[in-house]
Amino acid sequence: MKPKTLGEALHEAIATLAARKQDSNLGSSRIDAELLLGEATGSSRTALIAWPERTLEPAQRAHFRTLVERRASGEPIAYILGQREFWGLQLAVAPTTLIPRPDTELLVECTLQALSATSPIVCADLGTGTGAIAAALAHERPAWTLIAIERSIGAMAIAAANARQLQLGNLLPLQADWLQGIGPERLDAIVSNPPYVADDDPHLRRGDLRFEPRTALVAGPDGLDAIRAILDQAPRSLRSGGWIGIEHGWDQGAEVRRLLKRAGFEKVKTHRDLAGHERVSSANKPEPKQ
Ligand code: GLN
Repeated sequence: MKPKTLGEALHEAIATLAARKQDSNLGSSRIDAELLLGEATGSSRTALIAWPERTLEPAQRAHFRTLVERRASGEPIAYILGQREFWGLQLAVAPTTLIPRPDTELLVECTLQALSATSPIVCADLGTGTGAIAAALAHERPAWTLIAIERSIGAMAIAAANARQLQLGNLLPLQADWLQGIGPERLDAIVSNPPYVADDDPHLRRGDLRFEPRTALVAGPDGLDAIRAILDQAPRSLRSGGWIGIEHGWDQGAEVRRLLKRAGFEKVKTHRDLAGHERVSSANKPEPKQ
């Protein structure tokens, strides 16, 4: 068989992906094919584009074919590569964790704005998954301590590996069920991107969501079970004046604001993402009355 050049292999893969992926978008098929060819050959995307006439070794060709087949069957590109960038940081990702989403960068921005950059803030990230939010905050704020809490041992191991790889000495992974194990009034802040999809949401049967851990996505009939559980525990663990920021679905803002007020929080507000959707709600625990 005639050896294939990088350019030919790429072309063929783009056509395969565009024909078989559910979201048959040629632009994303091209990027996926380039990333997978980079993975199979150990070359950068730039090198692939600069030298399309280079030939593939038979082993690389076979490896590439396997990767393209996995992607064509719908497996998320982040799981195939084992990586995803979030807040400019390369994070290890595995099927035991949710894949970090760009939407979640809004929660990082809100947290950076809400709290003093130089104070020794202690902030818990609940259901940290890959550790994305905690890692972004630990990276931006060396004076803070991030307690990255995760119930799943598999995900916890990924978060711990990411903290090590990124040399974030101020990120402490902790295996626990939400705030159980955190003493009263220990935290200055709580952040979370909890599961918030409703049990029967049809999106669960599409795209990347089919491959992600259900426990990281789904939270009861209205998708709010996890947020209710967090808000049951949060007031006790936060110091007076402490801040909480929670990501939620675009249509859950009003209900999350109501739950925050019911839990005794004040200064309740909702922040919109770049698409204009309500995405993060935040609030403070009241200071004691004099
Ligand atoms: N934003 C994700 C989605 O809709 C859900 C993430 C989550 O449940 N925390 O795909």
